[in-house]
Amino acid sequence: MSGRSESDIEWNGASTTGVREVLVVGGGVAGLTAALFTARAGLDTLVVNHGESILRRNAHLENFPGFPAGVNPRLFADMLEAQTTRNGVDHRTGRVAGLEHFESADGEGDGASGDDASGPGFVATVGSAEGDDTHEVAAERVVVASWSDVDYLDGLDVDLREAGSKTYVDEDGFGRTSVAGLYVAGRSAERYHQAIVSAGHGAEVGITLVHDSETPFYHDWVTPEGYFTDRGREVPPGCEEVSETERRARERESMAAMREYFSELHAERQRTHPSLVEDEVGRVEEE
Ligand SMILES: Cc1cc2nc3c(=O)[nH]c(=O)nc-3n(C[C@H](O)[C@H](O)[C@H](O)COP(=O)(O)OP(=O)(O)OC[C@H]3O[C@@H](n4cnc5c(N)ncnc54)[C@H](O)[C@@H]3O)c2cc1C
Repeated sequence: MSGRSESDIEWNGASTTGVREVLVVGGGVAGLTAALFTARAGLDTLVVNHGESILRRNAHLENFPGFPAGVNPRLFADMLEAQTTRNGVDHRTGRVAGLEHFESADGEGDGASGDDASGPGFVATVGSAEGDDTHEVAAERVVVASWSDVDYLDGLDVDLREAGSKTYVDEDGFGRTSVAGLYVAGRSAERYHQAIVSAGHGAEVGITLVHDSETPFYHDWVTPEGYFTDRGREVPPGCEEVSETERRARERESMAAMREYFSELHAERQRTHPSLVEDEVGRVEEE
């Protein structure tokens, strides 16, 4: 396809104008985790989400490592989103309805051409939360993390796999699809149906994208002061050495945050499968 030109793009509602470095479609477990890693590596990252993660239907999340007695899945989802915001991820509510190639004004950077997607690559058509308005978002790279909907990929020549009522996106084992600059994470990539698997895959895909963007990036580690420098080494890109004073300050802040998160029962009511109740959002009556 010919692709859109930069002059076609109308930016709507974002805090910064222009072309995003990363657009993540879907703010569930995989998408938010991918976004966490791309943003922490310094890439300008926008998550567009419509609806809610299916994890919010879970009754009590008991197999996510690090929570010995389990955790309310809605609280977990809230904490994950807060973590992304704190690390610089931008969020918009809206349904991605279309995705096509995008060319910069000089005609370069069409992701279909097999280049390294170093220029603008894609433009997404996004419906507003109310459904009465659409706008466009341009991005160099896109992560598909929208389990249950990949219809918006119809305009791209991306390899898909049908399995019953489900459609999965083919990838190379690291989340790269058949279209340069387009990645897939979580259930949409047919990973196992557990939150930790989607989170792990989201992280892997985010890191793959960071490497492909040629951002200087090491392991995204926070280490004690002197860990590298006392051995005569530079602190690698993407790593940070923190003093003991700073470490304690961060620990205190995390303790305060967790005390607040876990101070009372989560306010959101439990859902069940929408087909089981008349209420279309599938809520369970409170006791
Ligand atoms: C009832 C139930 C219980 C479960 N219990 C457990 C459990 O105990 N332990 C466990 O590990 N896992 C459990 N899971 C599975 C776990 O929730 C999923 O494996 C995980 O959420 C998949 O992550 P994901 O990011 O791929 O998809 P999701 O978390 O579903 O995220 C996809 C996001 O994309 C959004 N989206 C979809 N289309 C679009 C679009 N066009 N534009 C923008 N956004 C879009 C969706 O609304 C959603 O927010 C359970 C699932 C269910 C249904």
